[in-house]
Amino acid sequence: MIKVNENYSKLKASYLFSDIAKRISAYQAANPDNKVIKLGIGDVTKPLTPACLAAFHKAVDDMASEETFRGYGPEQGYAFLREAIAENDFASRGCNISADEIFISDGAKCDTGNIQEIFSADISIAVPDPVYPVYVDTNVMAGRTGDWKNGRYEGLVYLESTKENGFVPELPAEKVDLIYLCFPNNPTGTTATKTQLEAWVKYALKNKALILFDAAYVAFIRDDSLPQSIFEIEGARECAIEFRSFSKTAGFTGTRCAYTVIPKECRAFTEKGESALLHPVWNRRHSTKFNGVSYPVQRAAEAVYSEQGQKEVKELVDYYLRNAKIIRESMTALGYTCFGGENSPYIWIEGKMDSWEFFDLLLNKAEIVCTPGSGFGTCGEGYIRISAFNSVENVREAMDRIKKAVGK
Ligand SMILES: *Cc1c(COP(=O)(O)O)cnc(C)c1O
Repeated sequence: MIKVNENYSKLKASYLFSDIAKRISAYQAANPDNKVIKLGIGDVTKPLTPACLAAFHKAVDDMASEETFRGYGPEQGYAFLREAIAENDFASRGCNISADEIFISDGAKCDTGNIQEIFSADISIAVPDPVYPVYVDTNVMAGRTGDWKNGRYEGLVYLESTKENGFVPELPAEKVDLIYLCFPNNPTGTTATKTQLEAWVKYALKNKALILFDAAYVAFIRDDSLPQSIFEIEGARECAIEFRSFSKTAGFTGTRCAYTVIPKECRAFTEKGESALLHPVWNRRHSTKFNGVSYPVQRAAEAVYSEQGQKEVKELVDYYLRNAKIIRESMTALGYTCFGGENSPYIWIEGKMDSWEFFDLLLNKAEIVCTPGSGFGTCGEGYIRISAFNSVENVREAMDRIKKAVGK
């Protein structure tokens, strides 16, 4: 008898985005002439920059002749891209990361979702609340949790991110083995200081734990005092894996390129308590199950690091950051308490009512779509997330409408 993986039936059906879609279509059916502005989704809106496009086109042409054609590439990624990353994203920040510690992939979603495969089934796991759902759901699928009860999975340790702790969770009171962190954070838009990350690294070393650090939004950091990589923290090479992506950095959400950094010293432990290096394990997993990102896409990603490319992607991110500033200032002026939006494209707003009530108010009174915070976890209740991924014209109009709808 073929048996199904019943862990999948534990997954709470994620009604968040389908609920949002349903409410939008109901509103639009009743008000066909009104234009709804969407500030809900975490997807970029601006096209690839000219430097990336030129490299992308050229690489497509390379595929047209026998001399320059490429077949299967190295599963870990081409050296030209891994070297550019090591130099620009790490050496420039004083982080000692070598090109062969970088694994190119087609997404940080896949990597943060797949990485749990290389750990034992019986580890204890800590996830932030509110959380990017991929970290949780992939561990549910793998059977590392109990059932869904009262808004949480049994068996997981939830790291509460609240306004009291500035949305940087406290160290868990109990011992955990695997810790997911994401800064700048999705959905709260908040960042962690070097001192705060140092505490997590110290905890991981002391408790023989491992940190999975999602830095998908690193390009939005403009405050130079903030750490950009977990590897800026002493000791992290032994106890941390970092995930990055070209999706939000360079508008690659539809182009697909990302990478994972596993330092050579990074370790887990065997049943007997002996240290086991993770780099060779992930290398084996990656080269067995993945066949590399396409050559033109890796060339387009490499172009992000050219002088022109760096200038262009900075302008691209600055555009969204200006939107974030408009949103933050407008909502603050209306009396709302706002978090994030300074080194992040997300503004996390305390609504003074429950998340869905606030969502409905903005949709019905201002024709604006946001994301209800409660969809990201119990600690998100009472908040909404507004995203800066839209045109500045739409963002301005959205803020005018909200002001008319809720302003005095
Ligand atoms: C957008 C996002 C990513 C990037 O995912 P890709 O698969 O690389 O597009 C990773 N982590 C978080 C928290 C995100 O919001």
